[in-house]
Amino acid sequence: LKDVLSEGAVDARPAVAPAPDRPARFDGEDLSLALRRGEFVVHYQPKIACRTGELRGFEALVRWQHPHFGLIPPSAFISLAEECGQIGGITDFVFEQSVAWLSNAFPGKNHHIAVNLSPVLLGDVSLADHFQKIARRYGISNDRVMLEITETSAMKDPTATLGAATRMRLKGFRLSIDDFGVGYSSLVQLIRIPFSEMKIDISFVRDVNKSEEARKVVIAIAGLAKSLGMEVTAEGVEDSGVLDFIRGIGCEMAQGYRIGRPMPGEAAALWSGLSS
Ligand code: C2E
Ligand code: MG
Ligand code: MG
Ligand code: MG
Repeated sequence: LKDVLSEGAVDARPAVAPAPDRPARFDGEDLSLALRRGEFVVHYQPKIACRTGELRGFEALVRWQHPHFGLIPPSAFISLAEECGQIGGITDFVFEQSVAWLSNAFPGKNHHIAVNLSPVLLGDVSLADHFQKIARRYGISNDRVMLEITETSAMKDPTATLGAATRMRLKGFRLSIDDFGVGYSSLVQLIRIPFSEMKIDISFVRDVNKSEEARKVVIAIAGLAKSLGMEVTAEGVEDSGVLDFIRGIGCEMAQGYRIGRPMPGEAAALWSGLSS
């Protein structure tokens, strides 16, 4: 069963179901309706400690379970949601689902949950408070919640990011810089923002078996993260060669299809039981 799960039986449907009558594009009203109808679902992808293989946490990844078009990936609707004011509602939903699931599926455990944060929300000064209230409602302490901001969005507005990051950290939430290495960071800006974790972009990680350059970049990023006091996670670990390599260079955590696919809550809880 574990193999079935990690081979991706659960999440391996085509990205967007190729229905012939799929609309050219969705609009904001579709998203708003989907929220009200409860069509969004959260899948959870495990993150493990490279050295011990131990489960450390999960990343929450939203999908749209469309009644007609099947399971729609976030790449097809997140930027639309950002443009038409629906991202706040979707994020709230993902956050609450995630902490509720964590509290239910892992009583007495210390795993963290990582939630992706859109740059559109970084200016919202009440967000940290709002998240804290939701986490408390489910008995999840803030330090078990990791908020992920991509390097690209952080660097688009470093001032807003620093403000949001500071408010989140003051409440005890952890903070991750996602997709690192493709976003042209200004190091001066980067060192000011109190990130707890750096996630090395999948584009480098995926290639370490075949490219000397990718290996050099991954080593350099891991070194930078360490010297800034951040934990390092490699994303997109698809085979054991990659896992061996990132373990060898002292990368703390790994996430990727080799370890586990994003899975619905029940499957992810089951996966964790089978993997320990
Ligand atoms: P991300 O935060 O960088 O998430 C990692 C993405 O890489 C996920 O794609 C995951 O399924 C995929 N992935 C994980 N391991 C592997 C692997 O070994 N190989 C390959 N090829 N891919 C792997 P997904 O779920 O399609 O999400 C795409 C992006 O959508 C996320 O990238 C994130 O930026 C965004 N996203 C997802 N959920 C949310 C959300 O709730 N809010 C916001 N604002 N953005 C979200
Ligand atoms: Mg992420
Ligand atoms: Mg990422
Ligand atoms: Mg990404």
